[in-house]
Amino acid sequence: MFAVRYGAHSVYFGGDSFNLREGADNFSIDDIAAGAAFCAAHGAKSTFLLNAFLHEADVPAVRDYLAAVRDIPFDAVMISDPGMLALVRESGLACPIHLSTQMSTLNHLAVSFWERAGISRIVLARETALEEICMIRAHTAAEIEIFVHGALCIAYSGRCLLSRYLSGRDANQGACAHPCRWNYSLVEEKRPGAPMDMIEYDRGTTILSSKDLCLIERLPEYVAAGVNAFKIEGRMKSVYYTANTTRVYRHALDTIIDGGPYEERLPFWRRELDLVNHRPYTDDLFHEFDSLGFVDVPYVKKALFLGYVDGDVSGSAASVRVFNPIHRGESIEAIVPIRGHAVDDGRFVVDEILENGTIVDMARPGKPCTIRFDRPVKSDAIFRRLITT
Ligand code: SF4
Repeated sequence: MFAVRYGAHSVYFGGDSFNLREGADNFSIDDIAAGAAFCAAHGAKSTFLLNAFLHEADVPAVRDYLAAVRDIPFDAVMISDPGMLALVRESGLACPIHLSTQMSTLNHLAVSFWERAGISRIVLARETALEEICMIRAHTAAEIEIFVHGALCIAYSGRCLLSRYLSGRDANQGACAHPCRWNYSLVEEKRPGAPMDMIEYDRGTTILSSKDLCLIERLPEYVAAGVNAFKIEGRMKSVYYTANTTRVYRHALDTIIDGGPYEERLPFWRRELDLVNHRPYTDDLFHEFDSLGFVDVPYVKKALFLGYVDGDVSGSAASVRVFNPIHRGESIEAIVPIRGHAVDDGRFVVDEILENGTIVDMARPGKPCTIRFDRPVKSDAIFRRLITT
């Protein structure tokens, strides 16, 4: 819902099976139908994710699952496994089929192969360099999609056995335990009980963890290269993360389309992308492999997601869904969608908090409450507190 409200033209849905988001808060079939209907009602497209790799034992269950979702009017379905392609065809699901980045498509011959197989859009491997995208574009009319922002893998477009090996959870079945983000120590062969700390920063080291992707500086180059769609990685991210990254890239793309002042607006976009939790950013992980592609700090956290307006707004009072405590008397920030290039974020003082009709000093996570601010607040506002270090 917030992705669409904050400017996404298309949203990806993972059901509770056969996608690469198994650990996330996925949707039931009813949720998926409601989500696709919400997108359609608000002019956005819905893409259904079926991009897990299939084992033989999965085939009957996939057939049943496809039968259950067949009548939902998705705008596209995304697959990785050629077997899944065959099963989608067999199911009669009548929508375009997109190919996931998991297939590691890096060249125009591979793109043409998938085009001939009936795929209308290819999400290129995350390792595809800009020059390669230009060459692919020169050879094919297929729709090209790339990741523009979010977490990366140290493995080839997520084809990785680390998680399965270290935790028994298979990344290629959507169950990655993210061991590349764990802290590691050094153990000398003959002293197995004496791990030695490796210090990169105050909490140890995460030598396998990659930086996060951020293409905001180079977006015009990728638009000029002929990319048709830009995807924000949002696995298990907050409403605030989804909304803020979406509005930044929506505004940046609209600025390019309208011929607006990109360089002038860049500092605002950079600041907002710095205010969502992230690892240090890179705009080209592939070319960092021989130098600085690994992170030297674990996470950058400069803003705390407090909650969002969830329901009634009456003047300066709004019902708020709370994710972190909000205190009476404090001043918090609200972000809202960027409309017509106008940024209308602002600071609001919390004048009063009502929980079940009783005035309280603090709005608590998970407890329904109404907050009265010092001035009217918008119905799609998301609240945050800047973290000072
Ligand atoms: S362990 Fe890390 S590199 Fe491997 S799939 Fe998971 S996130 Fe990607």
